[in-house]
This record gives sequence, C-alpha cells and structure tokens, in this order.
Amino acid sequence: NPAAVSPVAKQNTDKKRIAVMTSGGDSPGMCAVVRAVVRAGIYYDCEVYGCYEGYSGLVQGGSLLKKLDWEDVRGWLSLGGTLIGTARCMEFKERWGRLKAAKNMIVEGIDALVVCGGDGSLTGADLFRSEWPSLLEELVATGEISTEQRAKYQYLTIVGLVGSIDNDMALTDSTIGAYSSLERICEMVDYIDSTAASHSRAFVVEVMGRHCGWLALMAGISCGADHIFIPERPHKAGSWRDELKRVCSRHREKGRRKTTVIVAEGALDDELNPITSNQVKDCLVEIGLDTRITTLGHVQRGGTAVAFDRMLATLQGVDAVRAVLENTPETPSPMIGILDGKIVRKPLMEAVKLTKSVSSSIAAKKFDEAMAQRDSTFKESYANFLDISEHDDGSQVLDASKRLNIAIIHVGAPTAALNPATRAAALYCLSRGHTPYGVQNGWSGLVRHGALKKLDWMDVEEWHNIGGSELGTNRTLPSTDMGTVAYYLQKYEIQGLIIIGGFEAFRSLYELNRAKKEYPIFHMPMVCLPATVSNNVPGTEYSLGSDTCLNTLVNYCDAVKQSASATRRRVFVVEVQGGNSGYIASYTGLVTGALAVYTPEKKISLRSLQEDLELLEKNFEKDQGNNRSGKMFIRNEKASDTYTTDLIAEIIKESGHGKFESRTAIPGHVQQGKVPSAMDRCHAARFAIKACQYIEERNFSAQVAIETFWKEGFGSNLTSKGHSEADLKFVYKHGKKYVILQDNAKVIGIHGSNVIFEDIDRLWEHDTDLDQRKGKQVHWSTMIEVNDLLSGRSVLRDTR
Ligand code: ATP
Repeated sequence: NPAAVSPVAKQNTDKKRIAVMTSGGDSPGMCAVVRAVVRAGIYYDCEVYGCYEGYSGLVQGGSLLKKLDWEDVRGWLSLGGTLIGTARCMEFKERWGRLKAAKNMIVEGIDALVVCGGDGSLTGADLFRSEWPSLLEELVATGEISTEQRAKYQYLTIVGLVGSIDNDMALTDSTIGAYSSLERICEMVDYIDSTAASHSRAFVVEVMGRHCGWLALMAGISCGADHIFIPERPHKAGSWRDELKRVCSRHREKGRRKTTVIVAEGALDDELNPITSNQVKDCLVEIGLDTRITTLGHVQRGGTAVAFDRMLATLQGVDAVRAVLENTPETPSPMIGILDGKIVRKPLMEAVKLTKSVSSSIAAKKFDEAMAQRDSTFKESYANFLDISEHDDGSQVLDASKRLNIAIIHVGAPTAALNPATRAAALYCLSRGHTPYGVQNGWSGLVRHGALKKLDWMDVEEWHNIGGSELGTNRTLPSTDMGTVAYYLQKYEIQGLIIIGGFEAFRSLYELNRAKKEYPIFHMPMVCLPATVSNNVPGTEYSLGSDTCLNTLVNYCDAVKQSASATRRRVFVVEVQGGNSGYIASYTGLVTGALAVYTPEKKISLRSLQEDLELLEKNFEKDQGNNRSGKMFIRNEKASDTYTTDLIAEIIKESGHGKFESRTAIPGHVQQGKVPSAMDRCHAARFAIKACQYIEERNFSAQVAIETFWKEGFGSNLTSKGHSEADLKFVYKHGKKYVILQDNAKVIGIHGSNVIFEDIDRLWEHDTDLDQRKGKQVHWSTMIEVNDLLSGRSVLRDTR
C-alpha cells in the first residue's frame, strides 16, 4: 500500500554524522533501510556511517564504524539479510559497554543513531540516549574526552525502525520483513500442499513467532489451513485436542485429501502450557492421518524482500533521516512506523512498552486484551480465519428466513487474487447457510448460457493459491444484454452480487445500478471488489492482484538488473503494464532502484529524457567496475505515444557513444502473476468477507423494514426504527417481500488500513477519469519523489 511521507524539502542544517545499524534478528528489507538512510543522509548534507555488527560496532569502534558513500549501497535493495551485519551484543547491555560505545561515537564525530531492529534493540537505543549525559560526564572525568567534545556532542539523537519478521511491534501496522517472511511461508506450504494431497497426508507446519502469532494467523488464512495455534488466542487446555481432531476429521469427511495445521513456535493453551508440533502430530495420528512435521526455521528469514517490505524500508529509511534532522533534545526518540498507510513517527518507548504489554497480557491470561493490543487488523483477521476455515461446522448457520442467494462474477483481465477472493466469499456464505453461485465466464457466459453454478465447499477449498480465474473472466459488460442478465439473476432469486475485477467490474456495477429502474432486481446489494494489476479502480488505494504483480516485477527487474550489471555496460528499459495509471511503474521503480520512471501522469519530454541521460552518464562514470551496477529505466506501457520503449532504448544507445548500450525487456502478461502473493490472499479474504457481510446487513435491514411495513403500514415511521430514508423510498414485491434499496451499489476499497464502502454513483461522478479509465487521485506521488531522491535525480537537479 503506498504510504505518504512528509513532502521532500531539502533544508541545509549543520552537517550531521549519522550512524545506521541493523541489530537483533535479521529481516528482509534491512539492506533497503541502510541504502535509504545512506542516500537520504547524503542528500540532506549529512555523513552516514555504517555501524557494523549491531551494537558491537559501537562498542568496538574502529573499522566497524565505516563511512558509507552513495555508490557503496548500490544494488542493496534486492539483497536479503543485512550487509552491515547484525549481532546480539551482550557488552552493550552493560554500562561499561555503553561507555565505550559513547566514546567511539564521539571520536568519530557521530551524534545521531538510526537503529533498525526489534524491541530489544530499540530499548537499548533509548537507554543509551537517556544515559548519554552521564556517560559523557564519566568520559570527561576519566579524561577520555575533552570538555569541548562534551559540549559539542551533548545531545544524542536516536531514531528507531522496526526490522522484524514477527510483526510484533505496537503502534505500527507492519514491521519491515514481516510480509517477506509470510511470503516465504506461503511458498513453502504451497510446496508441501502438493505432496500432502498426493499422499493424503497431514502436515504440521511450525512457523516463527515466540510471542506473536501474526505469521501463523496470516499463514493460516493464506495457506487454507485447517487449524492454527497462536499465543494470543489459546485454545482450552482440556479440549484443544478434541477440537483439532473434530475440525480435521470434518474436513476429511467433506473430501479434502490433505490437512494443514499451522503452529506458532510460541503456541500455548489457556493454562499457558506450550502446545508443541509433536503434540499436534500425535492428535492427528490418533484420527488415522499419516502426519509429518515441517519446522520451517530460518528459511522464513531468508531471501530478498518482497515489494511491500522494500517500499516500507525505503520510505521509512528516508523519514528516519528527516526525523534525525527535525529532532530536538526535548522530543522523545521516535520510532518510524506505518499506520493506515501513512508513514508515522511514534514515541519509541511507548511502542516498546505497549509491545511488552501484549506478553504481560498473555502471561496474565488476559487474552482478549492481548488480541486488542496487536495491530488494528489482527482481531478481524482471526475472525476471518475462523469464517473460512472452521465455521463450516454449522455453528454459524442463520435462520432459514435470513439465508440468501449470493452470486459472484469475475470481470475483466485475470489477476492472481480472483480465486482466493471467490473462495473466501463462498466459504463465508456456506458457513452462514447462504447459497453462493459462481457465474461462469463473465457476463457473456451468463447471457449466452445462463451459466450460474452453485459453489460447494469442495469446489472452492483449493483456490487459495491458484492464480487466474477458475470461474472464467472476460471484458464483456452487462449492457451487452441487460435484460437477459436481469432475467437469470431473477430466475435464481439472487439477493446479493459480488463483482470481482478491474475497471470493467467498476463499470459493470455502474451500469447495473443505472438499470434498476427498468429491472428492479438490481436494487439488491451489489459490491465491486477491485482486482486488477493496474490498481486503477476509483475508491481504493489497493486492488487485489496488484501486490502479486509487484512481486513478479521485483523478481523480473532484479534478474534484468543482474544481467545489466554482469555486462557492466548495459542499460535496460523495462516496459510495465498499468494502463493509464502510473501506480505499478512508480512502485516498481521505487522498489527496484530504477534510474528513471516514465508514467502517463508525468509526460516524457525531451528535457526530462536529457536529464535522465545525464544521470545515466554520471552513474557510469562513478561506478566503473561495481558489480551491482545494473541500470534500468521503467516505462509504463502508456507513458507516451512518441517515446516508445524501443525509441527510448535507441536514444540511450545512441547517447552512449559506445560506452554503454541498451536493451528492452517487456514482461507482458507474466505480470498477472501465477500464484497469488500472501498479501493478496489475506486482503482477498478480508474484502470478500466484508462484501458478504455488507450484503447480509443490507438484506437483513430490508427484511426488518418490510416486516414493519406489513405490520404497521407504509405510514409507520420506519426511519425511527433505524432504517435510512434512502432505503425506504419504495417497497417492491416480487415473490419474496423485500424493500427496494436506494443506496445499494458499493465499491469496497482500502484507505490506509481501513476497508471502506463507497457509493458507485458518487465515485463515478466525482472521482473517476473516464477517458483515462482510472481514479482522479494520484495516491502514489510520494513514491516518485522518493525514488527521484534515491536514484540521484534530485541531487542532479539541485546541483544545476
Ligand atoms: P528480535 O526481535 O529479532 O529478537 P531484538 O532487537 O529484540 O530483535 P535483542 O536480542 O533483544 O533483539 O536485542 C538486540 C541487541 O540490542 C542486544 O544484543 C543488545 O546489544 C541490545 N539490547 C537489547 N536490550 C537491551 C537493553 N535492555 N539494554 C541495552 N541494550 C539492549
């Protein structure tokens, strides 16, 4: 999700020396943090030192504190782990260790520290800052520093960034590395899935998370697990074994050939006894399942960061430098986090304190409190998991009068998240006793063949990790034959419609809503779930499938850059999709370190091209021989009619005068992604369940209204009974009694971390650029600014 940082405003301050370190357990994205801090530091006229091996670098000083230049961090975006090393440093926990650290910093003239690590590392940093005056006092007393040095370095600035795969820090929705780790887990469980299904086996998969169940919970949702064990929501000591056996046996009886149980390494029962993978395995063996344990271990930390973590690390790294420059002796040390899609600064110690309070709540058996103390979506995600995995037990089935027929249709180009969203919607419907129908082959399938198929549990249960569209999708619109569309939906007594897709899905909803005067069936609640790699649907900052596309592009561009780097003299122009929306191009540019990004919003001109060629030449001059020097331009497919991908490549070649050459690379439909990313799978479940709940709520509200109407007549004051006036303009009778809803067609979207429903007519009129087939708001401009800063384009511009 694109986050916003404060506007780029270069202000010349006293030349600061900032040390950046990575500490505690490593996490994917730490290298991207160091790159961003080094380059933003240089941009803001600071000197940046790499503090190698975590706090050991400060304690030992010398060669472990090394100045880093712009070129030193070239190519670091794509590297896993941390190239400046990380360590657990016991000496720093002692005052004498911190005294040595303070002296080393002063000797090197460093007065600010950016620490990327977990809560331990941030606690150590804050302690260091609070002790700083007394450490300096002691150093003066022992003659190790002069009084002038003490006066010059009297304030220490600390800024914390959270690098952790566990996603366990309070006051931030996501930590750097968590989604990469989740992606790795999903990949591994997908592999296990095939062998499990082949042999009809059960697998107990143990994932990291000693004190936090985020990875296990999200893996449970995205891997279609039968059951999960997490520390925040322990099962009853006396009954968890029976519960586990019940769920897994039930799923087997329904026809599932595999069983997946995810166990967080810190899983507990409600008496705080550990629940181990072996215990879980024993239970599964008792119900006759051939069971294996896979402890994923350190693969979860490994590898390159996913697009989201690279974005987070980069925007937060830049903001950390700004925070150093803006910090005053009075302000508490900040921690940079992300809340509701915005990069935010929060008091570091408050975040650490709140984080620790989750463990205290668990230790005190206050599990509801522990759930509430996690990030804003944790509780909702747990409910989502139950809805799609465990509520097939009949416990949630509604009264017959409340059961609905809900249709799901895919519209437009395929994206990787169509199937997971459909699966979640269908499973939720089945758990409530509704009947989910899948429309086969889009509107044309409905019109030509009346192709509506009831979806059963077994039809969809495998769709969590399948890309493409199992229902079939195309770009046909309902206006092709609105009457037949209405006829079939009426024939099957459909009471709610979920349209999953991109701009055509959005347009379909608009057309249906417009047609309701003629065809009253379209007064039913209808929801568009944005799913498109272009992320161009108005009303949302995120579309299902766009994260998978970004991860695919990250892998593609990393490979392209590696090839460019190997030849030392090649430049690639990569053409990405996105239609008239520059979102994918801008995001990809930011997270792959492109030298230039061309989007439809920012037209290519001769001048801008010339600037980019100048930047390219400077880059070639500076990093002769650098083995990570791959250079790449990103061009959106519709950035310009004149400056085509081929033409830009030719211009680059021509201007290289033999010193460098160019190639084009067009990933094309590969960008739709083969397997949905973990983030897309989780959001798909969230969107789909919210959409179903909206349809339920609107129908139930209408049912109550009609009952009141039949009882009390039309003159009764229905609005005083909680019905909005808009709902109650007309009453319509067709087979069943129901109220015509006026405000019934919504687009579901994400703004920050909130899911919201927006009225289609309002979006169409006010927020849609119909010619360009996208929303009017460019919510990703920060990414362009920051990429300009980190690619060196801003430096070039400023020095003109
Ligand atoms: P992870 O979440 O991966 O465990 P972490 O940052 O919490 O990361 P820790 O091992 O707790 O990992 O801390 C890393 C380092 O931070 C320690 O080795 C130590 O050098 C320093 N540190 C941690 N706690 C303190 C403390 N209370 N006082 C001083 N330094 C500390």
